[in-house]
Amino acid sequence: MNEIEIILEKTTLSKDDLVTLISLEGENRNILLKKAQLVAGKTIGNNVYYRGLVEFSNICSKDCFYCGIRKSNKKTERYNLSDSEILDAAKFAYKSQYGSLVLQSGEQTNPAFIGRIGKLLKSIKSLSNGQLGITISLGEQTEDTYQYWYNCGAHRYLLRIETSNKTLYNTIHPFDDNHSFEKRISCLQSLQKVGYQTGTGVMIGLPFQTYEDLADDLIFMKNFDVDMVGMGPYIEHEHTPLYKYKNKLWPLSRRLEVAINMIATLRILMPNINIVASTALQAIDPLGREKALKNGANIIMPNITPTNHRKDYLLYENKPCIDESANDCTNCINIRIEMAGKKVVLGQWGDSKHYFSRNKNL
Ligand code: SAM
Ligand code: SF4
Repeated sequence: MNEIEIILEKTTLSKDDLVTLISLEGENRNILLKKAQLVAGKTIGNNVYYRGLVEFSNICSKDCFYCGIRKSNKKTERYNLSDSEILDAAKFAYKSQYGSLVLQSGEQTNPAFIGRIGKLLKSIKSLSNGQLGITISLGEQTEDTYQYWYNCGAHRYLLRIETSNKTLYNTIHPFDDNHSFEKRISCLQSLQKVGYQTGTGVMIGLPFQTYEDLADDLIFMKNFDVDMVGMGPYIEHEHTPLYKYKNKLWPLSRRLEVAINMIATLRILMPNINIVASTALQAIDPLGREKALKNGANIIMPNITPTNHRKDYLLYENKPCIDESANDCTNCINIRIEMAGKKVVLGQWGDSKHYFSRNKNL
């Protein structure tokens, strides 16, 4: 057995082991990917679940240094879908038997926004006879708000930690109360306490990020006992402060490779969680998401935002699918998933198995 095979035989992986796995290249990397495929086959099987993604507004009160829709980017044209546009997208997801929906937007915390989301959640539940599962990804809120939205029908929440290295977190966000690392952690704790299937994630290939940071990110996910992870490559955006470091970044191809290594390693570390094949993978490689599905991911989020607004939810450069209709998106994704040797499961929520093993009395 070579060094990688010996690591992959272990029951507990050390931080050094994780660093080795995440940074693999060439033939040894294939050994990692094969092992992740084996683990996925035994635990979560061949199934892939959909979440129709509705990016319903790019209005944001925050200024994250990496994000194209940050408040201070005056070059972004702001939009806010109407309730009927959002509900139409939900109907589309229901009729297409997606099983689940994700509502995502920039961060807003005002009472009108909170109430509006509550009403929309109830309407989506009602139009789908309670059959559409709902994930939300609406940033940092109070525990009361998380509870209110949970009571209205959301049952999964995605809030990325972005990086578990506090110093790096403070480098990629403004250093103020509105962008605090501690607050992000406490929001994740609130989400778990309320009872959401709790998802987090990181960006891979950030300026100044090391393999050790990425190993710590995986350890953070494991220690936090998360149910779902959505992580993908960081991709620079010209009208953001982090763009000035563009010459210090790993090449895009390496960011993609390491992102897939992270997914494969996480599948081995947390065999029964849900892992998303994120859209940013596809921005680098047309087959980026399929590569993720093949090597450990089991969730895909087809974009069902009305086409006329997709170009304004530009978090990073080369965002894919901005001019395809929801129908085109679905057809194209179905074929791609089959190409990856996986099976699309329609009409089911595809909840995280980990959530139920963590809450055995449910
Ligand atoms: N506002 C909510 C939040 O921040 O949680 C949800 C929407 S936000 C656009 C969703 C995710 O987009 C963030 O968690 C971040 O990881 C990702 N993102 C933003 N800018 C990115 C970039 N330049 N490259 C890759 N991912 C990016
Ligand atoms: Fe706003 Fe989320 Fe972008 Fe930060 S990552 S600027 S909170 S949309």
